[in-house]
Amino acid sequence: MTRVPPGGWPQPQSLYVHVPFCRHRCGYCNFSVIAGRDELQDQYLDAIERELAGITRDGARPDELPLQTIFLGGGTPTRLSAARLQRLHRAIAETFPIADDAEITAEANPEDITPECLDALQAIGVNRISLGVQSFNADKLRCLERSHDESIALDAIETAHQRVGNVSIDLIFGAPNETLATWQNDLSIAAASSISHVSTYALTFEKGTSFWSRRSRGDLSEADETLELQMYEAAQQQFSTASWQQYEISSFARESFRCQHNLAYWAGRGWHAVGPGAARFVDGRREVNHRSTTTYLKRMLASGNATDETETITLEQYTRELAAFGVRQLDGINLSTIHDRTSIDLEALLVETLTKLQSMELVTHQNHHLRLTRRGILFADTVASALLSEPN
Ligand code: SF4
Repeated sequence: MTRVPPGGWPQPQSLYVHVPFCRHRCGYCNFSVIAGRDELQDQYLDAIERELAGITRDGARPDELPLQTIFLGGGTPTRLSAARLQRLHRAIAETFPIADDAEITAEANPEDITPECLDALQAIGVNRISLGVQSFNADKLRCLERSHDESIALDAIETAHQRVGNVSIDLIFGAPNETLATWQNDLSIAAASSISHVSTYALTFEKGTSFWSRRSRGDLSEADETLELQMYEAAQQQFSTASWQQYEISSFARESFRCQHNLAYWAGRGWHAVGPGAARFVDGRREVNHRSTTTYLKRMLASGNATDETETITLEQYTRELAAFGVRQLDGINLSTIHDRTSIDLEALLVETLTKLQSMELVTHQNHHLRLTRRGILFADTVASALLSEPN
């Protein structure tokens, strides 16, 4: 069986840049982050320039399709000065053409949003800001070790909205000792603000974080599952008004403000990614860079390569992933379109799985269209793993 879809692998039109610098590592954070080492920023930019130059050498076709989305994530991209952000942008623009209407997102912490910071972001074309708000509640923010408060967060949202227009925030639920009422208050403050997009996440305790050790010692307790479910449903309820739409398991947007970068991931369109811990999907190959910033810098500057994991995926795996990630979008997915893209007929391959998921009332499957039910939204991970795994 051929390994390549009939039309070839999609040429990536998205780029993720991981900027690992943070002032402080928050207790729950398991991202690839380096705190208090801003003196490494010039070396980091040397490494990024080298990595981007390698993409051109390895056969990116920059003259064909321009980037439609760029996501500067972290870490905290806004820890880079205006001059360093310019240098980063120059390196990107020398590697890829960028579409005039490209969505260019930068993540930022609310306390970083100053007029100078917004000047620097706008100077490199940023037209979408994703703020790590997490909560508006003082106790919860303290517990999460965040250094802003409600008024800083609301000011940041408003200032960014006036300058850039498109503002997204992240909110966390299920923090230690958080009540449903606290969460509902976070949601209603968010909904009354000028954001156009919100992503909500349940707090997870990841190995290697200080929250993990504190939970093991009994210092912190995890929210129970029933409460987490109630919190998730509270978000759905809060953002079920006419002007909002839940378009993905964790994402809510006002009309025409869906995150184009994430849509590219879920649609399996392929993406480039650079920086420590960055994961890319290009020409049917998934690669992940080393997640330690210092190791990434050493390897990239010594040999021009900091790839730590490589996986070549089969066409069947790709097809299953298109279904498993695609179905996270609440509009659902058309399995015959996937069949056309990959030549693999998932409806035939997964006939038993699809029947079982329907009998469990987790999905509907009609006229080739697969969609999560209301219950399926709550058990989306079960649906995804059924679509990805071999039937028993
Ligand atoms: S600011 Fe964000 S990326 Fe940085 S340590 Fe905190 S949670 Fe992690």
